[in-house]
Amino acid sequence: MTTYTNFTVETDADGIALVTWNMPDKSMNVFTAEVLTELDAVTDQIVADAAVKGVVFTSGKSTFSGGADLSMIKGMFSFQQEQKALDPDNAAKKLFDLAGKMTWLFRKIETCGKPWVSAINGTCMGGAFELSLACHGRVAANGKSVKIALPEVKVGIFPGAGGTQRVPRLTNAQDALQMMTTGQTLIPQRAKAMGLVHEVVEPDQLVEAAKTMIKNGLKPVAPWDEKGFKAPGGGIWTPAAAQMWPAATAILRRETQGNYPGALAILKCVYEGLQVPIDTGLRIEQRYFTQILQTTEAFSMIRSLFISMQELGKGARRPAGVPKTTFEHVGVVGAGFMGASIAYVTAAAGIRVTLIDRDLEAAGKGKAHSEGLVKDSVGKGRMTKEEGEALLARITPSADYADLKDANLVVEAVFEDRQVKKDVIEKVEAVLPEGAIFASNTSTLPITGLAGNSKRPVDFIGIHFFSPVEKMMLTEVILGKDTGDKAIAVALDYVAAIKKTPIVVNDTRGFYVNRCVFRYIHEAYDMLLEGVPPVLIENAAKMAGMPVGPLSLNDEVAIDLSQKILKATVADLGEQAVDPRHLTMINKLVDELDRRGRKNGKGFYEYPAKPAKKFLWPGLKDMFEQKPAEEFDVETIKQRLLVTIALEAARTMEEGIVTDPREADVGSILGFGFAPYTGGTLSYIDGMGAKAFVALCEKLAASYGAHFQPTPLLKEMAAKGETFYGRFNPYPAADKAA
Ligand code: NAD
Repeated sequence: MTTYTNFTVETDADGIALVTWNMPDKSMNVFTAEVLTELDAVTDQIVADAAVKGVVFTSGKSTFSGGADLSMIKGMFSFQQEQKALDPDNAAKKLFDLAGKMTWLFRKIETCGKPWVSAINGTCMGGAFELSLACHGRVAANGKSVKIALPEVKVGIFPGAGGTQRVPRLTNAQDALQMMTTGQTLIPQRAKAMGLVHEVVEPDQLVEAAKTMIKNGLKPVAPWDEKGFKAPGGGIWTPAAAQMWPAATAILRRETQGNYPGALAILKCVYEGLQVPIDTGLRIEQRYFTQILQTTEAFSMIRSLFISMQELGKGARRPAGVPKTTFEHVGVVGAGFMGASIAYVTAAAGIRVTLIDRDLEAAGKGKAHSEGLVKDSVGKGRMTKEEGEALLARITPSADYADLKDANLVVEAVFEDRQVKKDVIEKVEAVLPEGAIFASNTSTLPITGLAGNSKRPVDFIGIHFFSPVEKMMLTEVILGKDTGDKAIAVALDYVAAIKKTPIVVNDTRGFYVNRCVFRYIHEAYDMLLEGVPPVLIENAAKMAGMPVGPLSLNDEVAIDLSQKILKATVADLGEQAVDPRHLTMINKLVDELDRRGRKNGKGFYEYPAKPAKKFLWPGLKDMFEQKPAEEFDVETIKQRLLVTIALEAARTMEEGIVTDPREADVGSILGFGFAPYTGGTLSYIDGMGAKAFVALCEKLAASYGAHFQPTPLLKEMAAKGETFYGRFNPYPAADKAA
């Protein structure tokens, strides 16, 4: 047996070398520069050893591999920046060489003259699947945990280590494009049906099955290296392809609005690559990959959606030194719309929940929500009957606060009413053990004010969930004036336990996410009042990369909630704090017309019975005099919608509400889908530069109102050429160490 740091090579009596990838000190195998160097050496060893007839490549961990490592991806971007400064003429060429490292190592394996079989024993993502594709055979274990994907497009890049060339040479171009442009996950059976793996076997037979492939005479030649090879479906120059390609570009345009260069590059790589031999195809891919690595979109998306998201998920903001909490028992008070779902996600994480409401019947109704979800999941095969029963057994409905006496944490989700919340805080604190944490899920009431009702404000915190709780990945953890480190640590441990991503923000009206969301919605109100046709507002928002138009979003969050918030703002801050025209408009919609949003089937949209789709309420035309769409510039509408949100995010940084740019960015994408290709609100500003952003704000302020005036901080950053990630550097310690 030969041992490397990350691999072992063990050759059996039949001359089959079992190469096992098992990185020390890592829970998952990932590609690093060292792994690539060692894999190269392993390949040389195998070629040189006449006794080796073939190779089975597998993982020594429960997963196969997650693909590229953070440090490698970060390295590519810092390399690019360094080289641009050091040697601008050759920087792109050097990046090109770096970007091709995996590509040509995998090609070396493919053409080494001995058969390789990849034995995929668990999740196999990105570069790891591209390595598998370069092997001559692929066997996957038949298991729930085996997931195969090329998900790179989701973080702004694309499969750049041969994926765009080998997938469409194994399966038809349509399925190949679908897989890579969406980053979808395949179960082993689907991968087999697509021709991407050869066999699916029971997990304990995996390595044997892979060895048998070799013993049965697997040729060490990829199909595309055989003479006369034709891609499935016949390649590009066929009548079927002539029909498929124009549709493919149209679909991509519809799905991405031209905002994702990485997704477009996949189409280009496949279309151009299928017309040439594999080596040329790989070079085409390498060129596009080098180009995409230099885009602002790739840089910003990788930073927010890959690196920052992982860092926040791992507790980047957790105070050090507080021991980790393992949750035995969590209380949820208020078994309504939110509380019922919070109980479900908590029980789904294996934690016992007491779900309290005003009486047992109301609490039971809250549990019924989980029963419905479990029934659905079991019916769809996503959960076994036993798992469903165990989940439900963990939720106990109750009307007795004494049941909370051994809880680590209580999450309050009762009516949004100060007095009701005060009552509940007092009742809970009367039984809650010393040191346990009280968290409020309020969406509008400042935490410091609520904590005024608590005898232990140090243990009082906000955990703000988003609806639908089961789907939304984000939670906002809100610190009151007196919230202590233990409360932060417990809240973050809980958010991690229920597998959501937290952002930690200081107390303010609307916190971070809702402050931004309501800017978006209010800009749409302004537009309606100016006579912009609502359909133009909604479509321009989607073209700008927002998943949901502002009017549609307002229907989802409820128009009467907007009304409540506007009224509360007037009550607390005075008339001048809101635009009176907004209040008049919303009062009319809610009080006169009973248009409260999706929940009562009437809002900015009409909601006919399914399967008919919702459509914009025609009555909007009578409420607002609409001008012809041609009178408006779509680009300006797109800019207004994004800039008003980004500007609000910048204000929250300036006010010290959000303190870490990673949180502003990740929070904006996970919280309300802020145009993900930008990398989030602050990356949007950094991406164009503070100077350009300030100029844009000034231009918009001149036509659309003072709310677009750039803030003093932004002006200062523009003058100094600063970025948010430079000025509010989230890695000061690491920089010092370097
Ligand atoms: P809801 O009206 O659906 O549920 C509130 C529940 O609290 C009801 O079941 C009610 O019976 C119960 N309740 C009222 N008084 C109680 C008391 N004294 N003791 C025990 N239970 C009591 O409301 P919701 O939409 O679930 O909102 C709950 C909280 O979550 C609010 O603070 C709201 O601001 C916040 N929130 C709501 C959303 C949302 O999208 N609806 C999103 C984030 C946060």
